[in-house]
Amino acid sequence: MNRVELLGRWTKEKSEELYGIKNWGRKYFSVSEKGEVLINPFKDPESAVSLKDIATGVTDRGLDMPVLLRFENILDAQLSYLNESFNDAIKKLHYKGRYQGVYPIKVNQQQQVIQEVTKFGQRYHHGLEVGSKPELIAALSEMKDKEACLICNGYKDEEFIDLGLYAIKMGFKCFFVIEIPGELDLILKRAEALHVQPNIGIRIKLSSKAGGHWTESGGDRSIFGLNMSQIIAIVDRLKIENKIECLKLMHYHLGSQIPNIRDIRTAVQEAARVYAELVKEGAPMGYIDLGGGLAVDYDGSNTNYTNSSNYSVEEYCTDIVEAVMTVMDSSQIEHPTIITESGRALVAYYSVLLFNVLDVATFEEHEIPAQLDPSLPEEVHYLHEVNQKLTVKNLQETYNDILYYRDNIRNMFNHGRISLRERAVSEKIFWNTLHQIVDKKNKLKFVPSELMDLESAIADIYYCNFSVFQSIPDSWAIDQLFPIMPIHRLLELPTRNAVIADITCDCDGNIDKFIDLHDMNNTLPLHPLKDTEDYFIGIFLVGAYQETLGDLHNLFGDTNVVSVKLNGDGTYDIVNEISGDSVQDVLSYVEFDTKAMRMKFRKTAEEAVKMGLVTPSERRIIMQSYENGLLGYTYYER
Ligand SMILES: *Cc1c(COP(=O)(O)O)cnc(C)c1O
Repeated sequence: MNRVELLGRWTKEKSEELYGIKNWGRKYFSVSEKGEVLINPFKDPESAVSLKDIATGVTDRGLDMPVLLRFENILDAQLSYLNESFNDAIKKLHYKGRYQGVYPIKVNQQQQVIQEVTKFGQRYHHGLEVGSKPELIAALSEMKDKEACLICNGYKDEEFIDLGLYAIKMGFKCFFVIEIPGELDLILKRAEALHVQPNIGIRIKLSSKAGGHWTESGGDRSIFGLNMSQIIAIVDRLKIENKIECLKLMHYHLGSQIPNIRDIRTAVQEAARVYAELVKEGAPMGYIDLGGGLAVDYDGSNTNYTNSSNYSVEEYCTDIVEAVMTVMDSSQIEHPTIITESGRALVAYYSVLLFNVLDVATFEEHEIPAQLDPSLPEEVHYLHEVNQKLTVKNLQETYNDILYYRDNIRNMFNHGRISLRERAVSEKIFWNTLHQIVDKKNKLKFVPSELMDLESAIADIYYCNFSVFQSIPDSWAIDQLFPIMPIHRLLELPTRNAVIADITCDCDGNIDKFIDLHDMNNTLPLHPLKDTEDYFIGIFLVGAYQETLGDLHNLFGDTNVVSVKLNGDGTYDIVNEISGDSVQDVLSYVEFDTKAMRMKFRKTAEEAVKMGLVTPSERRIIMQSYENGLLGYTYYER
């Protein structure tokens, strides 16, 4: 309970501080006077809407939790923010080129996202980046702006290249970025066959490395991109083919979520030098594409820690423009169009996952008697003795002893030497002691390392209606942290320390690391459940990468998705509702034939009737529940 201040009235400000919402929320999220989380993509405070109201509105319409909320206004606001920040930096530094971003489809491939990026991006000519043929096909269905860039990365086969060439024919600014040396031949061959002048880019390997989750993408050993001798070979090849005028773009991608601005600056400098050399080699160039990497401050700590970012978007833009300009000016080269492929920073804020809590398991401090029943086994008495002798001075020793006796007692139980009832008594003593150790250790000046994390051992387990694997796969796969907090009751003191378990009941399906300004927390303060109302928790900043990686762990499928549009006057519209997967849907993904399943089960039920186990009318009811099950939501339904 050390993080939660017990004295004084609990206020919205205390909740804001406890959950760090002002640090990670980018002003889009805040706490209202009513103690509810507000969302507001606009500057005017009157335009905010409560997430609790939206949650209620959604459930009233018959959509069950969990629900993924997408806020198109936030996507719009982030797109403007990135573009305006670059434009401001360009103006301030008197850069003579322009900025033209592209959105990498892989970060969130949902049709709605691509549609909104192209719609809101039009005023900045913000384009798309594709890394595969299916992504190119998707991009071509949504793209209309002929001034925006369409960047083709990834391995390209003939079909991929032909499609890109047709796009050029139709007037799109489409670039083929060469990732491996062999690609050039195929591009030139197909371009000649289709009579199209291709726009060629090269992906370079930098020696700069960056910290972050995906560091393999950058550095000398990265799998993708060309090293310096391969670049020269491409240039020579293009010269021989008389096609050097096609070489217009240079690209690199250092990796995603680069928390340290220094790594970004170093990479831009090196890349700008390569760019300048390519111009000196006689390539027309014109575009320098710096890939992704713009980080999101998930924990709000503003540091170079993996889940954070030690720079603002403004600093990012200024540093890039400045670095490119310095190198170009020193070689007297025209300022190129700067492209970035920011995905995470554009879409992370866009989605919030909401779910309800199904149940809570607590490990209460049991009362234990001063005198034990003398007939209990010796070992239980030893444990009790340790408990009785506990003082602030022997915490570590007591901790070691109770673990020792607990293990002994378990062993004895396994060998049939003590009964279930006797073991239950010992467990009560164990938990009582553990609670006391946790209470007392806060009085110590130096807490022994083994006792540091005991809070999580006695934390409540909140069983929540969602799947980590489906909705926040990076939490499980790479231990990424996301901001998590209740979306209401924020004027009440959160008296419980909790860890979160998802509905899969898989030990990997839990969350026991939470954001903190200085460190990481092993528990999250939450409110005790009430019988009369649902308790809603939100996981924030889940718009980037999570939807695409989701898997069907335990056959929990896609959640319901609701798109919300804030009107700017405190009201909102639900502009799109997508029902999540039904049980039938997910079963068909793993190749079950649901028609055949119905038939087989009907036969089983019929046999039960024949054997007299169920009546024919019971059979009808059984078949009906089977049918309802197949058609229902994969998550816990009311
Ligand atoms: C993944 C990827 C991106 C997106 O990076 P973010 O850090 O999400 O902005 C950009 N470019 C390429 C080539 C990528 O593979």
